[in-house]
Amino acid sequence: MARGEEIWAQGWSEPEAGSDLANVRGRAERDEERGGWRLSGQKTWSSRATYGHWLFGLFRTDPDSSRHRGLTYFLVPLDAEGVTVRGIAQLDGEPGFAEVFLDEVFVPDAQVLGGVGQGWTVAMSTTGSERGLTLRSPGRFMAAADRLVDLARAAAPGEALRQDVARAWMEADAYRLYTFHTLTRLESGEAIGPESSVNKVFWSELDLRLHETALRILGPDGELPGNGWTDGFLFALAGPIYGGTNEIQRNIIAERVLGLPREPKGGQ
Ligand SMILES: Cc1cc2nc3c(=O)[nH]c(=O)nc-3n(C[C@H](O)[C@H](O)[C@H](O)COP(=O)(O)OP(=O)(O)OC[C@H]3O[C@@H](n4cnc5c(N)ncnc54)[C@H](O)[C@@H]3O)c2cc1C
Repeated sequence: MARGEEIWAQGWSEPEAGSDLANVRGRAERDEERGGWRLSGQKTWSSRATYGHWLFGLFRTDPDSSRHRGLTYFLVPLDAEGVTVRGIAQLDGEPGFAEVFLDEVFVPDAQVLGGVGQGWTVAMSTTGSERGLTLRSPGRFMAAADRLVDLARAAAPGEALRQDVARAWMEADAYRLYTFHTLTRLESGEAIGPESSVNKVFWSELDLRLHETALRILGPDGELPGNGWTDGFLFALAGPIYGGTNEIQRNIIAERVLGLPREPKGGQ
């Protein structure tokens, strides 16, 4: 995995389970004879599944359960019998993600991660690490911020845009330093908690602002292909959606970081 030779895709979202992930309908039926499970269902928006080797995701192992109980975290080879992967084109036309259909796919017990029925706990650990640390490397934003500074030097834009360039660079550096802070906390035995949602909102909005600033400096040239910024801008548009939408992150921040009251069911 570290060498990038083995690519893993994430199989969380389903057609009826995006923001409401606990609504997972993919199911796993016990196969006692072969010592494993048979998985059926559909995952969607699965990044890298088009060319990936493995998928991890949640399936319901207890048919009588509901919401986040009775779910199990499975590791599934994408070339297993019964798996069909159908690429979905992104805004730039690349099939960056895919629908994954599973039809009675056999998965042995050894490919259950974290125990039967413990899927939600494992998944929350994955999402915390993703939002708080691993999804977007600081190097990516620093490199883009440095390119933005070069662009601004060459184009010599007016004062307001220069302020935005400085802000984008400072935010990228703040993100880099915060990543070190998180690593230091983890090394001293602490865990990533719901504050990872603050981090997710921060880096996704910083990425978007940074690319918007570059396109504003480029002016009409920003609409031409091959300007070095449009692809990044199109991908930045997805940042507030993937990894759990920013609206959902703000709900988590409100309820679990700030301790504000939960929204009543069916309320305003
Ligand atoms: C580039 C990209 C890559 C992705 N990669 C993966 C992947 O690898 N694996 C994977 O499993 N998924 C992936 N996703 C899917 C992503 O996680 C979902 O799109 C996201 O969680 C939202 O779910 P949804 O699309 O079903 O939207 P919905 O849940 O239907 O939400 C629609 C809108 O309603 C808002 N909303 C919903 N509920 C609430 C609420 N309670 N309060 C306030 N607002 C609410 C949302 O914020 C959103 O704006 C990817 C998405 C993108 C764009």
